[in-house]
Amino acid sequence: MTFTLQQALIPVDQGYTTVDVRVVGDTITAISPSLEVVGTVVNCENKLLLPGFFNAHTHSPEMWQRGVIPPLPLELWLAELYDFAPLEVEKVYLSALGTAVETLLSGGTSVVDHLVLIPGQEIETIAATIQAYQAVGIRAFVAPLIWDQSLISGIPSGENQAENSIPGRSAQEILQMLEEAINKFHKPEAGVYILTAPTGIQLCSDELFVGCGELSDRYNLCRHSHLLETKAQQLLAQEKYGCSAVEHLNRIGYLSSRTSLAHCVHLTDDDIKILAETQSTVVHNPLSNLRLGSGIAPILKYRQAGVNVSFGCDGASSNDSQDLLEAIKIGSILHNVTDLDYQHWITPRQAVEMASLGGAKGLNLGEQLGSLTVGKKADLVLYDLTNLSLLPRTDPIGLLMLGRPTQVVDSVWVDGKRVVENGRVSTINVDDLKQELFAKSEWVTNRKSKTVSEFEAHYRSVMGLS
Ligand SMILES: [Zn+2]
Repeated sequence: MTFTLQQALIPVDQGYTTVDVRVVGDTITAISPSLEVVGTVVNCENKLLLPGFFNAHTHSPEMWQRGVIPPLPLELWLAELYDFAPLEVEKVYLSALGTAVETLLSGGTSVVDHLVLIPGQEIETIAATIQAYQAVGIRAFVAPLIWDQSLISGIPSGENQAENSIPGRSAQEILQMLEEAINKFHKPEAGVYILTAPTGIQLCSDELFVGCGELSDRYNLCRHSHLLETKAQQLLAQEKYGCSAVEHLNRIGYLSSRTSLAHCVHLTDDDIKILAETQSTVVHNPLSNLRLGSGIAPILKYRQAGVNVSFGCDGASSNDSQDLLEAIKIGSILHNVTDLDYQHWITPRQAVEMASLGGAKGLNLGEQLGSLTVGKKADLVLYDLTNLSLLPRTDPIGLLMLGRPTQVVDSVWVDGKRVVENGRVSTINVDDLKQELFAKSEWVTNRKSKTVSEFEAHYRSVMGLS
């Protein structure tokens, strides 16, 4: 497919300029004030063209529980989440469709799905998720979420690791399943990438982390994990290793330029140095950090230390949406209250770069994705600057990053294929999806999590809550 975008507004060093952009196949082949028309013409008058953003950390099946979990910290919230997690592959398929649609319509062209697996149907869960992402046409980074220790061991002063292994789920068995998934599904040329993704130090043995590192090396895969999301995890790392989680992960070789780490809320200055030295990426999930009371990640410090930062929505039940533009806005301005020096604050243009190039770099694809550059892949988003929420005309990127943009995405291309046209997803029938999500759910007014009531007294005691 060859097409020419005509008269698109793009940002340049000094303000904005209007250009034509030629795409041949999956690649941007020319950008110039005026190009000879080749292929289909797309009129981009009064539209802003930006590289697609990365929803660099989410958990798509959480869509089934958005809006329902009460205000709880992560450790108790997780206990409730797993009590009610969907156990049907068909539901997993539908929530992946929903996650893809909401990501596309808020400026994203790539999603990193740290995918919660249905026990005993792990490969089927991954297959259904990939099928959904391919149906919508979003670039899919699927990171099967694995762990080999029981949920209670994620809380400090829990029982020791040996007693908390999960019967029938040894590190070796999990790694075998992961290798099968890699062999079946990892197809970068088709826009599907598998990542190794132990959930985090709180629920994973060293054996699992090291095994994931080896698979990542053998198959040239990116690595993902949660890292120090909560105060409890910081305490737990000291209990488990006698040092910080970052020091430990560095010691066992998990940190690298191909490693992206979600949250990174409770890191010391020494930890930050290690992230910079290892060229690891931080994925900032501001809304879930607020929702779960986890804290404010020191994003300005990461940027000053030269650590790459991108944005994620995190799962839809700790957010409780998948609006990437909202996550980027909050994730940018939140830090203004942490540093009096306004020269460190994140500007709207820096936020765009973090969400696009930052996301690409975190997945080791900075050379191929993340900017409007000739030779890069055509993952493009066109915003309608005549939309009421982007008027009157001031600074287009300021309006997009700082405002409350509503239904502003006009068109999206992923790998040169158009997947959104005139504000509507063109690859699947979203009305059908809405009907299915409605039909397969019910209003929930009163549910009780058994595991929360089992864990709560212990959690309150170790966290010093009366
Ligand atoms: Zn997460």
